Amino acid sequence: APFVEFSDVWLAYNDELLAQNQFAVEAINLKVRQGEFIAIVGPSGCGKSTFMKLTTGLKMPSMGRIRVDGQPVTGPLKISGMAFQAPSLLPWRTTLDNVLLPLEIVEPHRSLLKKNRKQYEERARGLLATVGLAGYEKKFPWELSGGMQQRASICRALIHEPKMLLLDEPFGALDAFTREELWCTLRDLHAAQKFNVILVTHDLRESVFLADTVYVMSKSPGRFIVQREIDLPRP
Ligand code: ADP
Ligand code: ADP
Repeated sequence: APFVEFSDVWLAYNDELLAQNQFAVEAINLKVRQGEFIAIVGPSGCGKSTFMKLTTGLKMPSMGRIRVDGQPVTGPLKISGMAFQAPSLLPWRTTLDNVLLPLEIVEPHRSLLKKNRKQYEERARGLLATVGLAGYEKKFPWELSGGMQQRASICRALIHEPKMLLLDEPFGALDAFTREELWCTLRDLHAAQKFNVILVTHDLRESVFLADTVYVMSKSPGRFIVQREIDLPRP
């Protein structure tokens, strides 16, 4: 079974827009394999963020069905981790405590955290080391560069071992060198752990470098559709 399945999904943001047939996304059909890394590229306003909200259950479709990990999506999914263009670490928490944050919210970790703090800290340290942040555990966000904060925010998204990682333009604000370094880090993490990744980006080169499958989302007059699927060999 596919890990993510969209069957003829339409979304209007409210009833008024629905009455006017103003859909943010239209007729999305999509199947994502277990462990697949997909990228979605497309112009501003084509519906990429809306697609992410639908995939994580933050929005329910006006029409159509969405299944993730074999279940119909009925509300916000805890099996996903997210990172965005701004790293948005909490400034009063150290890097390590920022990475641990999702565990304080997501069950079953929340209940286990007190007993197993050491074990979870080890996992956080391990992730930080993977992204080149060993030795920065006790630093605060404002003591790190932008690229280092972004790496920490990817660790935070992965700390509860999500089955699905959602990335919305996570490298957009970085310089070219840092960006390409982080691409390699992400590719290694994905190769090692086989979680699903959904990456939204404006950067076609980035999508081709990272993803197993690239979807081009287009904006034809009044409608937003996943238009084309390209299967690409990894470089
Ligand atoms: P992208 O992420 O590709 O820039 P979005 O998913 O944000 O595109 O937007 C898709 C369409 O939905 C756009 O026409 C946008 O104006 C509209 N839209 C997005 N968010 C809302 C909202 N909260 N209320 C009404 N319309 C929205
Ligand atoms: P940026 O995001 O600003 O381009 P990077 O994340 O690529 O920077 O960091 C480049 C390198 O510079 C880091 O690997 C680190 O060795 C060093 N560095 C940057 N900022 C700091 C800092 N605040 N403290 C210590 N080292 C830093």
